[in-house]
Amino acid sequence: MFNKARLKLTAWYLIILMVVLVFFSLTIHNMLIRQVTTFVSDNRARVEKRFGPMQSVGNWDKEFIEDANHRIIITLAVINGIIILVSGGLSFFLAGKTLKPIRKMVEDQNRFITDSSHELRTPLASLKIAMEVALRDKEMTLKEARELISDNILEVNRLQELSNRLLSLASKQDLNKQKITEKFSLGEVIKESVKNISALAKNKEIVVVNGVKTNTEMFGNILEIKELFNILLDNAVKYSKEKSKINISLKESSKYLEIHIKDQGIGISYKDIPRIFDRFFRSDLARSSEQTHGFGLGLSIAKKIVADHDGFITVKSKIGNGSTFIVQLPR
Ligand code: ADP
Repeated sequence: MFNKARLKLTAWYLIILMVVLVFFSLTIHNMLIRQVTTFVSDNRARVEKRFGPMQSVGNWDKEFIEDANHRIIITLAVINGIIILVSGGLSFFLAGKTLKPIRKMVEDQNRFITDSSHELRTPLASLKIAMEVALRDKEMTLKEARELISDNILEVNRLQELSNRLLSLASKQDLNKQKITEKFSLGEVIKESVKNISALAKNKEIVVVNGVKTNTEMFGNILEIKELFNILLDNAVKYSKEKSKINISLKESSKYLEIHIKDQGIGISYKDIPRIFDRFFRSDLARSSEQTHGFGLGLSIAKKIVADHDGFITVKSKIGNGSTFIVQLPR
């Protein structure tokens, strides 16, 4: 599909070039012929003035002009041929370059659709099987049926969470989306995110220390920044050991606000660090832990939000030694 599009685009570049070349060639040809004709008649006038009227040898003037015309046409054809040949190659190269980002975007979207369908298919299939088995079971008691329904509701909730995350990620890829920015208190946003995870943290007896002052302000999309800190703090609690500590601190420079979220959790192995921001990536450690369910979408959303704010997100971590996520956002 893209090779065909590349050839079509090359053809269009060449058609435009050829129209321009024909126009210029005709203009140059007319100009030169006019010059040659003027040159011939001026010369004849000059010679006749000096030596008297000349007898035409055959049709010398006309022949001279025709010969010049012939040469001009050949020269222009050769020059045009060379230009078209070189431009053909260049156009093909440029068409490839123009289509490259579009190709990457389409491939990305296809991968996103395939990955998403794959993630949705497995829980849907297990839900379906559980219900079909229950339907065939004639001796199922009311208690068992209730248990099955509550299990299914849990599964449906997870599917809902997955579809919400997929929608959030898809909406952030929308190129036509308007950028909404406003001045707001980053400190308040972080405080609110800490409140959101406080019940979860309390369950695991995790202490969250928030050192970001509420008067810390920034420009950006407040809803997205809220989502970013909800994701990072949710992960910090999710992957932390019981009775541990999460530290949130801020470093300010003239250009950036640097927020550090440090936990004492399971950590991330050296080989997994470059992959944790990829869509649907979950480390083996995260997968093997029953309490930490997830879809591997949080950090890819976080990365997109930070990139949309012209910031950076990095992580320092060692397996078993906790992780520190560092977010740099322009002031
Ligand atoms: P999810 O948490 O739903 O699996 P994320 O995209 O948020 O998806 O995270 C991707 C992976 O990065 C997680 O599966 C986990 O392996 C790792 N990870 C993220 N945050 C932490 C953290 N604070 N501590 C340890 N591992 C983490």
